[in-house]
Amino acid sequence: MKKMGTMEIVKGKLQIGGMDLEDLAKEYQTPLYIMDEAHFEQTARIFTENFQSKVFQGNVLYASKAFTNIYLVKKVKELGLCLDVVSGGELYTALKAGLDPQRIYFHGNNKLAKELEYATEAGVGRIIIDNQDELTLLLGILEEKKLRQEVLLRVNPGVAAHTHEYIQTTNEKSKFGLSIHDEGTKDVVRQMVTSEWTDFRGIHCHIGSQVFEEESFFKSADLMIGYAKELEDELGIPIKELNLGGGFGVYYTPEDKPFELGAFLRRYVAHIEESLSEAGLEPESVDIEPGRSLINGSGSTLYRIGSIKHPMKGDPFLLVDGGMTDNPRPAMYQAKYEAGLVSRPDAPSEQTYTIAGRACESGDVLITGAKLPKAQVGELLIVPNTGAYTYSMSSNYNRIERPAVVFVKDGQARVAVKRETYADLIRNDVE
Ligand SMILES: *Cc1c(COP(=O)(O)O)cnc(C)c1O
Repeated sequence: MKKMGTMEIVKGKLQIGGMDLEDLAKEYQTPLYIMDEAHFEQTARIFTENFQSKVFQGNVLYASKAFTNIYLVKKVKELGLCLDVVSGGELYTALKAGLDPQRIYFHGNNKLAKELEYATEAGVGRIIIDNQDELTLLLGILEEKKLRQEVLLRVNPGVAAHTHEYIQTTNEKSKFGLSIHDEGTKDVVRQMVTSEWTDFRGIHCHIGSQVFEEESFFKSADLMIGYAKELEDELGIPIKELNLGGGFGVYYTPEDKPFELGAFLRRYVAHIEESLSEAGLEPESVDIEPGRSLINGSGSTLYRIGSIKHPMKGDPFLLVDGGMTDNPRPAMYQAKYEAGLVSRPDAPSEQTYTIAGRACESGDVLITGAKLPKAQVGELLIVPNTGAYTYSMSSNYNRIERPAVVFVKDGQARVAVKRETYADLIRNDVE
């Protein structure tokens, strides 16, 4: 198991943020989401310090769908990031945390009327239009409210990034955005340009997630710049903003080979600058939208082993007190993780286990082929690299309570989200 962030072994036992994990488990129970706050801050700084240019303003937008809550948004604010939201609920969280609405970018491929009303009234910085119907809906709302809104259009540059099909969003069959190869897309832009209710700022794309090839990002940036140039020439309008999305790949297992972030971002900026200069474009700002790459490595999930079971065939099971309810990614798209034993993180591996959860689904398996020392019932198991798309995708299946989220830093723990109670589970039940 690779040690992330501030993880260190003290007296043979694993610590994060200077906190003993057994102490955390006793205090907050398991499963438990642990966020390494210093590591998150450091990662955010790598983004803001390296995605900088003399030619354009570089904006780093954290994609809150990866993991969000009030405390996290407060960190986003403090670290000088902007925020992507994709629903009224994410927007509500951001506003409740006191984030300046101008720093909020509203995405989504089928925004509801009530969400567009909420976002425009709140005065969000940008709404990223996905399709013609959504634009029609928005224009109606703006006209009725006599509000003017800054908008971007999500386009699909048609780059097939090498990644798992379910999390690839820019092939030609994608449900997101409008294709740059479709002439009709320009009509949608024209409406945004001519309407008195919208201030058309530019275009957005997001080529997919967990992408490891730098070339995919460079290629999509070139295509976006090429398309921006086409729009400027044909429609005679300036493209003030290019939003190039996120999708930077991260480490889950040794199969994943992420690029060194700081160096990659500097090469990315240099590439964008060169491509802009060749096209003769001078946008005011270029945005990137990291979600996973900003937060995933800072999060770990702590479980307690409740049973070790030897089936008639195959590897023995380690049954833990969480599973697909706190992390549906393995069940949903065969996502891979590493695991370790908290009390002996460095002991040699002796046994291959299947780590399974407690939900009533055979597919509730967190890790297959996990190589660990011989585990014991009652031991703590840690799964690192669970910062993104775990808590935010969690469910109450089987009426299992969601775990607490605890931020740790410099020997201090701080609860960001309380563990759910049974009472929380029946809160909306009507007798
Ligand atoms: C999901 C998403 C992101 C973030 O993707 P990551 O893979 O988590 O970096 C950014 N922008 C948009 C529009 C998205 O949908």
